[in-house]
Amino acid sequence: MRKNIVAGNWKMNTTLQEGVALAEEVNAAVKAAEHNCDVVICVPFTHLATISEKICKDSLGLGAENCADHKSGAYTGEVSAAMVASTGAGYVILGHSERRQYYGETSETLREKVALAFENNLTPIFCIGEVLEERENGTYFDVVKKQIVDALFHLSAEDFGKIILAYEPVWAIGTGKTATADQAEDMHAFIRGVIAEKYGKEVADNTSILYGGSCKPSNAKELFAKPDVDGGLIGGAALKCADFMGIVEAFN
Ligand code: PEP
Repeated sequence: MRKNIVAGNWKMNTTLQEGVALAEEVNAAVKAAEHNCDVVICVPFTHLATISEKICKDSLGLGAENCADHKSGAYTGEVSAAMVASTGAGYVILGHSERRQYYGETSETLREKVALAFENNLTPIFCIGEVLEERENGTYFDVVKKQIVDALFHLSAEDFGKIILAYEPVWAIGTGKTATADQAEDMHAFIRGVIAEKYGKEVADNTSILYGGSCKPSNAKELFAKPDVDGGLIGGAALKCADFMGIVEAFN
């Protein structure tokens, strides 16, 4: 059966020293807390190797926020999936809306990134979600379905089963504007149906679908209580241990 997961996305925040301190604080808090979910932190590339040495990965998973769409070679400034894996990280966020919007990521590049993540035993946390205009003009189900179909539906059922999905309505990311629990559930149930149509009910039932977008301690419980919401991808609130733990403890 699918797992409950709370994953932090630190984005481009914290120096190495600040990041190590935060990771150590979160690691200690997760060990002490009552919770019924996996917990992961996805951190800047520069922090991975050091944090990897400092945390207990049985209780706190570690991931990158992106990886390159090429294996290795003359791609100045890029960081490969193999490099990420060599730090001891086990996860990688792929297709975050900020990467799609500011760095031109397409389904085509994301297919390459997913393949390289798998080659290196990294679990992709694959982001999908509509922008405000698409929410308002009613095309949001079609948009999200297309993102999944174009980037992931070439995968075998076995490989698809290794993906964690994160539904992140772009209009709710970093805006303080959360999707209501009902809006999240409607989309998550729809996504599970799309997966079931392609791969069957068992694969769909086993896929963890996280919600992301201004999730905080005050709304996490209501969101996570929905049957198809299996946890959260957390941006801003992942930068304060107490806030992040308030969300983790929504699963207890
Ligand atoms: C995110 O960027 O993945 C995110 C969900 O951000 P926030 O929680 O800050 O809206």
